[in-house]
Amino acid sequence: MGSRCACTWILGLAGFRVVHTESDGEHSDSRLTIRIERRGLRRYPCSGCGRRVSRVRSMGDRTWDDLPWAAHPVTLVYAQRRVRCRHCGIRTERIDFADPKARVTRRLRQQIGVDCQSMPTSHAAVRHGVSWSKARRAEAAFLADWDRTRPRHRPRHLGADEIQRGKGQ
Ligand SMILES: [Zn+2]
Repeated sequence: MGSRCACTWILGLAGFRVVHTESDGEHSDSRLTIRIERRGLRRYPCSGCGRRVSRVRSMGDRTWDDLPWAAHPVTLVYAQRRVRCRHCGIRTERIDFADPKARVTRRLRQQIGVDCQSMPTSHAAVRHGVSWSKARRAEAAFLADWDRTRPRHRPRHLGADEIQRGKGQ
């Protein structure tokens, strides 16, 4: 595996660096597991107020599916902290690259969401190497986001159910 600096650069997640990469095989399409850590000071943004907090109460590994590296599907691993914030009490650390309870990164969600507008969810799931339920959740989050950020430009309201029906499932 290449240097960690190169891996960090390729990953391109602001504020995070690659600690370790692992492949589950030698194949060109084997899954890459990438462990990441925050760069710099050991302070973690509180999900309540956004302030950076250094008092960590606990931590636990979480995983997110991310965009592939060439033909390798990618899983990110990060030990997300629970912090003791002076203003909010005990909160989870805020992670900018994913929605709070999402199992995929925002950028993968974006791609799945776009693909789901032109192909069945199951096809998008296969294409991005995620389960159907992950793809379905990503699609729903993508649509909700789209709905929220473009209130004036949509030609008419399309519900997720309508779009689903439009695919003839
Ligand atoms: Zn706080």
